Amino acid sequence: MGVPLLDLKAHHEPLHQEIMAAIEQTFRSQTFILGPEVGKLEEQIAAYCQAKYGIGVTSGTDALLIALMALGVGPGDEVITTPYSFFATAGAVVRLGAKPVLVDIDPRTFNLDPGKIEKAITQRTKALIPVHLYGQSADMGPIMDLAHRRQLAVIEDAAQAIGTEYTDGRRVGSIGTIGCFSFFPSKNLGCLGDGGMVVTNDPDLAERMRVLRTHGSKPKYYHKLIGGNFRLDTIQAAVLNVKLKYLDQWTQRRQENADCYKQLFQQSGLIQKGKVQLPEAVYRISGVKHYHIYNQFVLRVERRNDLMAHLKQKGIGTEVYYPVPFHLQECFRYLGHQEGDFPESERAANETVAVPIYPELTLAQQAEVVDAVATFYR
Ligand SMILES: *Cc1c(COP(=O)(O)O)cnc(C)c1O
Repeated sequence: MGVPLLDLKAHHEPLHQEIMAAIEQTFRSQTFILGPEVGKLEEQIAAYCQAKYGIGVTSGTDALLIALMALGVGPGDEVITTPYSFFATAGAVVRLGAKPVLVDIDPRTFNLDPGKIEKAITQRTKALIPVHLYGQSADMGPIMDLAHRRQLAVIEDAAQAIGTEYTDGRRVGSIGTIGCFSFFPSKNLGCLGDGGMVVTNDPDLAERMRVLRTHGSKPKYYHKLIGGNFRLDTIQAAVLNVKLKYLDQWTQRRQENADCYKQLFQQSGLIQKGKVQLPEAVYRISGVKHYHIYNQFVLRVERRNDLMAHLKQKGIGTEVYYPVPFHLQECFRYLGHQEGDFPESERAANETVAVPIYPELTLAQQAEVVDAVATFYR
């Protein structure tokens, strides 16, 4: 029958009327730039992430850019981050003339290995960007200790991790100096196009980002700062105000699907034979079995590329996030890295594959995915 990697049609169908009503209402209001819908979303997302302030922006990419701009990152500065993430994490740093300094990942979580950060800090280091990849928190305890000790800002790239909690129950995005979110349609909370948000507990940074979002102008036509047009569309905010109400229930479905995959893969014997390794929800919160919001369910497998070809033939959607770590990207050749510099990131890039985990996935579809994987190794 086939199973897509993501089924947006199934996701949006039950909300069709409600979303259309929100768009209709925005159209009637003729407010297309900022306005009450954006304000309401900012308040709600900030509260959801346990942060004081939220500022709606054009995308997750621009969320990273505006966060770095607000912190004054520029030429001569270094920003420490992971080699294994979506391109924007490092791209935003370079666009401001700063240098990304890479630190390898913890193979269990695919996130920055905190034990390797200190060696990478220099006089020029200005900030750290941990990424909460696939929906699981980076190890924020030691990262924040180090940041305080060395007086570094921390920008959380939480694009894939809205609502994720760290071991202490704090939600990602509000742990560091600034948290960055994306509403790209494939994220757990997606809009009908591009959108993003930054959150912070710092009133000065919040004000700076608000001003930077509209070309640094305040009052209108008077510019103390050089910003850009980083505004979240009102229509997208209206859609997100509808969708946010359902986010917890979607997250729960993703977590149930993850539990179900665990059972099915156990029964298949593939784990015992070492053919497939499941993602590990490493951080446990008291009373909660795992806290991972599974934006992606990423397997580590034997003969990855052949398995993908096999699954494609069976109509099962998969994707490699991300096949080329930053240090091996052509555009970052000037950084002077070579193969072998970040072995865990390289291993992750070569051995992993994402399988469908979206909230509307049925038990039958999950069984189909696991059967197809089992057939390949038989
Ligand atoms: C999606 C994503 C971004 C960028 O978000 P956009 O809204 O697509 O610009 C940044 N970082 C990570 C880790 C992402 O997954």
